[in-house]
Amino acid sequence: MRRRPERSIAARLLGWYDAGHRDLPWRRTRDPYRIWVSEIMLQQTRAEAVIPYYERFLKRFPRLASLARASEADVLKCWSGLGYYTRARHLHQAARRMGGAFPAGYEALRDLPGVGDYTAAAIASIAFGEAHAAVDGNALRVIARLTNDAADIGAGRTRTRFRAIAGGWLDRRRPGDFNQALMELGATVCVPRAPHCGRCPLAALCAARREGRAGQLPVKLRRQAPVKATEALVIVKRRGRILMWQRAAGSGRLAGFWELPSLSQLPQLRAPRVIGVFRHTITHHHYEVTVHVGSGARAVSPLRWVPIATLESLLLSTVARKAFEITAGGIL
Ligand code: SF4
Repeated sequence: MRRRPERSIAARLLGWYDAGHRDLPWRRTRDPYRIWVSEIMLQQTRAEAVIPYYERFLKRFPRLASLARASEADVLKCWSGLGYYTRARHLHQAARRMGGAFPAGYEALRDLPGVGDYTAAAIASIAFGEAHAAVDGNALRVIARLTNDAADIGAGRTRTRFRAIAGGWLDRRRPGDFNQALMELGATVCVPRAPHCGRCPLAALCAARREGRAGQLPVKLRRQAPVKATEALVIVKRRGRILMWQRAAGSGRLAGFWELPSLSQLPQLRAPRVIGVFRHTITHHHYEVTVHVGSGARAVSPLRWVPIATLESLLLSTVARKAFEITAGGIL
């Protein structure tokens, strides 16, 4: 008798996962708080890049109660460098809303700020063993290839359909491991440009491989064209202080962050000199940022003189942080 392919997919995938997978710190725990923190961090950042931030965050806020008690500024500061700060604000708001008890169950998780279908399914399956398929970008790619499906994975209806397909394959005794295995396969074997089909546990079941189309899938139609922009920042130093400004409360996702002034904010600047250039990307916006030093500028509102000694304790935007890194301590 022929085995059902979905049984075969789960068994092969879990066998491969059990034989060895990346040792990521959030895989060593079933604590829903820790898994939640990791899943929020992983929403827009690669696993390897998340690790140091995850460890630092949990050292600073080891429990739900410590996160709920913290000020938003402290949470953002601990998140600093990871980007997409709305994630940190949501994490903090959700911790306060939970009132000390982590909600169990997909539906309750889905109600939390910053938690969508994927994140709720990941936490519910990994921490609570609930049978929900968690389908991230890596899993979407694997599903498109296994089924040889050329639908646009950027479209909501394709994601819903692919989630249902993964739900059909799901091992109901080990849903958390199944989800992690599917995502792990996408992250390490079924990679975007040149999948390593020769060492894939699902190669015999893969329709795209059979048709020679693996490299053409998945299809993702571009919705927003990349936008290139330039920015010119200035470091003005006087008597141990630096000219900076703080974004007002309620001014969007970077509210409360400190920034360096731009060249256009300092019409009185004398002898600006370029000390470096770096690139910064936010979603589809690609900035080339030129960093200058100069003198003679005045602290006209909203600019303020900030003691250099206090910079470390300030909530700096990623752009300001990158600009200071260019100085490598030389200017400061
Ligand atoms: Fe991906 Fe190749 Fe495996 Fe198919 S056989 S799932 S394309 S790695």
